[in-house]
Amino acid sequence: MCDLCARPVSGMSRRGLFAGMAAFSATAALSPRAFAQAAPQNAITPDEALKRLMDGNARYAANTSANLDYSAGRAARVTVQHPIAAILSCADSRVAPELAFDQGPGDLFVVRLAGNFVNDDGLASLEYAVKFLNTPLVMVLGHSRCGAIDAAIKVVRDGASLPGHLQEMVREIRPAVKAAKADKPDDVLAAAVAENIRRGVRRLETAKPILADFVRSGKVKVVGAHYELANGKIALV
Ligand SMILES: [Zn+2]
Repeated sequence: MCDLCARPVSGMSRRGLFAGMAAFSATAALSPRAFAQAAPQNAITPDEALKRLMDGNARYAANTSANLDYSAGRAARVTVQHPIAAILSCADSRVAPELAFDQGPGDLFVVRLAGNFVNDDGLASLEYAVKFLNTPLVMVLGHSRCGAIDAAIKVVRDGASLPGHLQEMVREIRPAVKAAKADKPDDVLAAAVAENIRRGVRRLETAKPILADFVRSGKVKVVGAHYELANGKIALV
């Protein structure tokens, strides 16, 4: 059985697994073990959730992903979801959180927008995951060679002008670019990507009233992570 989410990795369907659990519960009624098995998959600590993600990324980077049966457990997810992590990710087509962390449907609650910055709409979605879905981990996931951040650098450093609503995106990323430009002028893009992640984490950790309260109580942790396009590996920032 997959250690991440009670998802069988071979042979046995999730439906069969649930049937087996029901039979087990009938014979071991109300035992502590029966209760433990009935707990939702995200009734875990933030650190346990993070370990599941990082273990999944190790499988993904090694091309040994285990979560490939996307219909498994579909019926059980019709009325409930118990995502183990809420992720604010870039919209970049090369960065797909479910794939990169080797997680299946129902495992991740993902907000995506180019530049993975925190705005009120994204924050509301993350608050929903924490407050109503009991998600124990929130992650800001940036990546190498981010085009949105590169565009912001061109505006800040080179005076470029962007059309349409892209200026609004740049406005959100500009503070990270300015800080990176001052600290690491030799590699502004990499520095701005990292700074943008760190700023996102700080913003979420202190976002009142919901996320800040959950973080203070220890029920939720906010972490930053960086996806390397060249090898698919994710490292904490
Ligand atoms: Zn990006």
